[in-house]
Amino acid sequence: MKKKIFITVLTLVYLLYSYAIITNNNMIGDLLSPVLMFIITCAIFYGFVKKQEISILKWLGVMLTLASFSWFLCDIWWGIQTLILHTNPEENFITVYGYSLSNIFMFLATSVAVHEDLKKMNKIQAMLDAIIVSISMAVLLWLFVFDQNNGKVILLLNDKISMVSLIIDVVIYAWINVWAFSTRMIKPPFHHRILVAGTLIFVVTDFIYYYIYYYLDYKANSWIDGAYMVAFSLMAISAILKVKAKKEKLDLIISQTKNRVSCKLGVEIFILASPILVLVFKRSEIEYFVLLVTALLIYYILINFTQKSLFQEKLLELEKKNVLELEKKVKERTAEITKLHNTDFVTGLYSRRYFEVRLSKSLKYLKQDELISLLYIELNKSKSIKYLYGKDTAEKLLKNVSEVLYQIAIKNDGFIATYGDDAFAIMIKGCEAEAASEKVAMEIIDRCNELFFVDNHGIRVTLSIGISCYPRDTLDQNNLVKNADIAMMQARDKGFNRVQSYSDKIGKITDNRHKIEVKLKKVVFDKEFVLYYQPQVYCKDGTLSGFEALIRWFEDGTNFIPPLDFIPLAEETGIIVPLGYWIIENAAKQYALWKEKTGHDYRIAVNVSSKQLVEVDFVDRLEAILKKYDVKPELFEVEITETQQIENSINIQETLNELKRLGVSIAIDDFGTGYSSLYYLKNLPADRIKIAKELIDNVESDIYSKAIIQMVISVAKMKGNKVIAEGVETKEQWECLQKLDCDEIQGYYFAKPMPAGDIEEKWIKKEKVIEKV
Ligand code: C2E
Ligand code: CA
Repeated sequence: MKKKIFITVLTLVYLLYSYAIITNNNMIGDLLSPVLMFIITCAIFYGFVKKQEISILKWLGVMLTLASFSWFLCDIWWGIQTLILHTNPEENFITVYGYSLSNIFMFLATSVAVHEDLKKMNKIQAMLDAIIVSISMAVLLWLFVFDQNNGKVILLLNDKISMVSLIIDVVIYAWINVWAFSTRMIKPPFHHRILVAGTLIFVVTDFIYYYIYYYLDYKANSWIDGAYMVAFSLMAISAILKVKAKKEKLDLIISQTKNRVSCKLGVEIFILASPILVLVFKRSEIEYFVLLVTALLIYYILINFTQKSLFQEKLLELEKKNVLELEKKVKERTAEITKLHNTDFVTGLYSRRYFEVRLSKSLKYLKQDELISLLYIELNKSKSIKYLYGKDTAEKLLKNVSEVLYQIAIKNDGFIATYGDDAFAIMIKGCEAEAASEKVAMEIIDRCNELFFVDNHGIRVTLSIGISCYPRDTLDQNNLVKNADIAMMQARDKGFNRVQSYSDKIGKITDNRHKIEVKLKKVVFDKEFVLYYQPQVYCKDGTLSGFEALIRWFEDGTNFIPPLDFIPLAEETGIIVPLGYWIIENAAKQYALWKEKTGHDYRIAVNVSSKQLVEVDFVDRLEAILKKYDVKPELFEVEITETQQIENSINIQETLNELKRLGVSIAIDDFGTGYSSLYYLKNLPADRIKIAKELIDNVESDIYSKAIIQMVISVAKMKGNKVIAEGVETKEQWECLQKLDCDEIQGYYFAKPMPAGDIEEKWIKKEKVIEKV
């Protein structure tokens, strides 16, 4: 509302002032002029000083405000003289020269603008424009203002202040021309143009004023004063527009060449107008015409050069910009790819690749008293988890576990990375790295004992951790990781949630394992493998009940490699599958041979790995072998050892059921040592339970072992299963087992595993077991 009233009043004041100018009314003009100048000064101050953020441009605002303010003061003094003192202001020194102060301030403001604008202009272009404009102006002034009259020049020169004002006007005018026409890198915002238009009107009016003042008759409050008012008003409008403009579009870079085309026209109009004016109005002064045309020609030739170089400069700049942009994009892409390369997709931790780079750097810059300890962590059962819960849940679990490990690693100044599908590595550096790594390992085991909740499942994870230390265990980076891995495998072999530090002994074991693995891959079964048989006897009288076939490997016919050294490797490498069929076939063959020789058939048990049981055609192939050698299925026994896999695999359960249908006897091996023996007893379709040697060893001394055996025997009996005790080494053990009503026994006390020939000699032919005892 207030704003509306203000604008209405202001408009009315302007209209009234215009009326005063048109009617040359001194009273109203002298009264309203200071009022308007005051408002203008305030607007200029507000827009160009108060709201100006760029400090150098604030100076421009201050100068413009002072120009307007000094004019306002002069207007007041003028008014006082005419309306109150009734004296002639044109005879007063202050009023005569006071107005020139505005020119000086205007010049200072222009200087600030020049200083700023030149940064955005092409300097050579601006200079050429300035020269041609100045020449044209000088000629026009000489011809039209001074009428080629030295006297008029001298008259003006005598009045020093007027002369300074005029020179300032010329300079400002020339500059405005250059500003408006010369090539700029940046398009000026709209309010700049209004400001320049105001300044232009001011200096042109000033020219005319001086001309009228000196050579004609100046009348106060005539159109000249109106023109001054218009000039100042435009500056005030510019100030208001500047505040209103949300953002100065200084970043609007326009094409230089395009700008030049439109501006060239401006320059041409101006400089072409000069010779035309001379030709039309001062026809007799042909030499000035020639002078202007020559200047124009030279200007054009030079401009041609600068334009070309400008164009090239522009092209170069564009090219540079493109190259820079391209470089930036390449850099961004490279950073992205490197990041992808360096991080693990599932866990978000650093990748193995990045870890190795970091490890290498850390080793390189390791201080003399520092160590590097490397933890190799593997999640057990990750395949079973994937199988039981699905890939998504397994990945989420992995992510959760990785977060826990990350927290622990960070807390202990370790560097962690994902090192495989279900493995992590942590590097710890420092003088106390060894102790720190053990602490970290224990912390990890402790924390991972808690349940992880993923997709509504509470999942317990178990880990195996191997630690190796630089320089204690090795001086080589690859070996450092390898040793930690080896230690981890040792830890895994010992059971779940175990930590193992690397040692030379472990290294040797692994070395040996590696050697065996290589040999195993090359071995010809018939040449180096042989089956030994260990008799099984009835507990009550020691008479023969059957045999267990046990594999023996004599490398090159002599070097004995124990089954426990190569069977796990055969399982890991998958060689157990063909080897298993070889064992079954040879055991069946032996059964047939003994039957042929003696007319008796003895039960033969073979050890079968869970890796074999998952083979889809296992039962078919077994059946075929049994048929081939005419083996009674109930006299062929398959010994299976409890493993996680058997519990979780639906395939294995299926296979066991099929075996049962086939009539093959099933024995559960090493019973009582695994963690879910009772599960087996209840769920597997077993015929015989083989109580592990570990329990038999203590049957006389340890009441718990005895109690367990007793319990197993009674449960088995309830289920209709037979029980056989393994590893019986003493008479006392045998007697004890007799008392516990065990069905059968097997052990060194009766016989060690021996070749088929020895069995024939010592057992089958004589069949005098009791006498031997
Ligand atoms: P296992 O199935 O528990 O076999 C019994 C092991 O105990 C045999 O060792 C046997 O020689 C030994 N043993 C029997 N009675 C006594 C005793 O009174 N005292 C002592 N100290 N040991 C006794 P072996 O032959 O070295 O076999 C070790 C393991 O290797 C076996 O344990 C079995 O898991 C595996 N294995 C052996 N032969 C085969 C095979 O043909 N196939 C498969 N898959 N595994 C086999
Ligand atoms: Ca066995």
